[in-house]
Amino acid sequence: PSPFERVTVLGTGVLGAQIALQVAAHGVDVTSYDVDDDALRVGRGRLDAFAEAAALEVRDPAAYRAAPDRIRLTSDLAAAVQGADLVIEAVPERLELKRDVWARVGAAAPASTVFATNSSSLLPSAIADATGRPDRFLALHFANNIWRQNTAEIMGTPQTDTAVADRAEAFAVAIGMVPIRLHKEQAGYVLNSLLIPFLSAAAELLVKGVATPETIDTTWKVATGAPAGPFQIYDVVGLRTAYAIASAEPRAAVWAAYLKEHYLDKGLFGVESGEGFYRY
Ligand code: NAD
Repeated sequence: PSPFERVTVLGTGVLGAQIALQVAAHGVDVTSYDVDDDALRVGRGRLDAFAEAAALEVRDPAAYRAAPDRIRLTSDLAAAVQGADLVIEAVPERLELKRDVWARVGAAAPASTVFATNSSSLLPSAIADATGRPDRFLALHFANNIWRQNTAEIMGTPQTDTAVADRAEAFAVAIGMVPIRLHKEQAGYVLNSLLIPFLSAAAELLVKGVATPETIDTTWKVATGAPAGPFQIYDVVGLRTAYAIASAEPRAAVWAAYLKEHYLDKGLFGVESGEGFYRY
């Protein structure tokens, strides 16, 4: 059973909609907040689309198909957080925006409510004081395609009460997640701290002309027993995303240019376009 009976999700974007859906599909009461009626209309469309996408892949499709109608939608922030046991924030990745939203939530929510941010790249300690209750605030980080890539990284700040992190972990399990507990703050959490250097090392071998993508992937798979090599992972992540990340990193300039010339300019984006390093 979930340790939180009533959950409010802030933002009905890509992750906010998926989080609300996952929580509602596991029988927990959900309210979703977004800024205005237009944003909520778009959000409702996302809930329906993600519910159908999940239903095609999960064991209990009916729970996902029924979930969107069970989610209360509102653009009234104070009403949205009144009576919430847990508030999960999935608003755009801008520090000042998040701090502003959390200050307003902190003023409106009951004192007992637990607060969690889904931020991918901001440390929770950069936000904690804005909430007015740093002991009850932590990061609870989900992944895209939440019903399938079901990790929930739980990362507090030095001020987070351990009992609050324990409850967040129990909640993650109750909504079908595999909890990943971090014991200190780490940019990139566990997954991206491993994945990004791994993928960068593979890119370096390729652009230096050391070996082909097939050889590099085969090495990794045969030697470690892993089901996929780094270039198969690049194709799943999508080469546009890989390019966006590489372009923002001066040390990855050669790799960014390589991706653009050999893949993006030819319309090869990975699995989503039917071809990247491999054909699908
Ligand atoms: P998104 O742009 O798809 O959605 C953001 C939503 O927030 C929109 O519905 C927007 O209307 C709403 N919004 C804007 N201002 C708001 C405000 N003041 N109050 C409430 N809602 C507001 O973004 P996303 O991809 O869902 O990302 C949201 C958060 O989730 C970010 O912190 C991001 O780092 C994190 N995240 C994203 C992914 C991903 O793959 N997209 C994965 C893990 C974590």
